[in-house]
Amino acid sequence: MLKKILIAVMILFVATSTAQAAQKAWSPELRIGLQSGVKKVTLNFSAPCVMIDASNKRQLSKIPALKNFVVDFSELEASAIEFRPKEILLQNLFVTIDGKKFSGGVRLNKVNGSLTVINLVPLEEYLRGVVSKEMSPSFPIEALKAQTIAARSFAMKNRKRHDKDGFDLCSTTHCQMYDGALTFDATDKAIDETRGEVLMFNGKIADANFHTDSGGMTENVGEVWGTAAPYLIAVKEILKLGEPWTLKFTAKDFSSRFGEGFGDVRSINLSKLTIGQSAIDRSSSGRVKSAQIIGSSKTVNLTGADLRRKFSLPSTLFDMRLDGGLIIFTGYGSGHGVGMSQTGAKSYALEGWSYEKILAHYYQGATLKKVY
Ligand SMILES: [Zn+2]
Repeated sequence: MLKKILIAVMILFVATSTAQAAQKAWSPELRIGLQSGVKKVTLNFSAPCVMIDASNKRQLSKIPALKNFVVDFSELEASAIEFRPKEILLQNLFVTIDGKKFSGGVRLNKVNGSLTVINLVPLEEYLRGVVSKEMSPSFPIEALKAQTIAARSFAMKNRKRHDKDGFDLCSTTHCQMYDGALTFDATDKAIDETRGEVLMFNGKIADANFHTDSGGMTENVGEVWGTAAPYLIAVKEILKLGEPWTLKFTAKDFSSRFGEGFGDVRSINLSKLTIGQSAIDRSSSGRVKSAQIIGSSKTVNLTGADLRRKFSLPSTLFDMRLDGGLIIFTGYGSGHGVGMSQTGAKSYALEGWSYEKILAHYYQGATLKKVY
């Protein structure tokens, strides 16, 4: 008899601990804008849900689990509806939206004759769909942890960035790439082991910008977007990173991008690049602030950012010269250069740096804090 009770207790214990293992912990809820201009959307939830009128929280209907539920804009009366789980917590719910899997619930806003589709997702679950898109899961764990903290801080700091659109953040590179419920052992480990950790500066969450490759030196945020921040200053890389890139354009192709009245390119005025050395036309890291291009009929002055866009250059850390019939760009790095370099984070992690040390290098004076 005793043996039977003992076995029953053991089964119960195993059953509860398995159930508990599947339960995820709370984290702040984010509204991620996925798509706008949608007329019809098909949802399928992993557990029973309720459809709520978002304006007065009134329950409109019950949605069974694992059944396709189609929302047609023309049949929807409420101006915004939300789908939330009935019996479980939001962090344990999954939904497929037109066949694609996401964590959390859904909100649909009626906007200008169509629907905006929003994923209601707890921050830690959101990060699973961000970190592996922003950095390869094959990168070393300390680099993935640094990336996780940068992405978590960015999301918390920039929450409500799209408030006028009816959500917090979009799912593109404008905010951060987000691709739904993704799971990789390495990124899941980086997220779980840094749970709730963010970068702080002066008692506030830091705006943890990041980019692909600094090319040798990061950039002062003030020289890129105008507003300076003491923790986003230009820092020299300690390791030698990456190879220079070269892009060549024929004089004809080059000139044609300046419009009809420009004529043919005659000369270029831009000082020579030395990484870490400023000049009248270069920032403190050496990135191009401005360049003058003289054509046979017109002279144009462009910023480094203008040139980067016009010629799809990887960065603004470049030299530009006219050589025979060619215009040759030679540069370093990729991206805006502000905050953490992902290539740098990988190199430092391979050198044995911890994520704390990597973050301290790129976000000078910022500290780490576990906020939940
Ligand atoms: Zn955005």
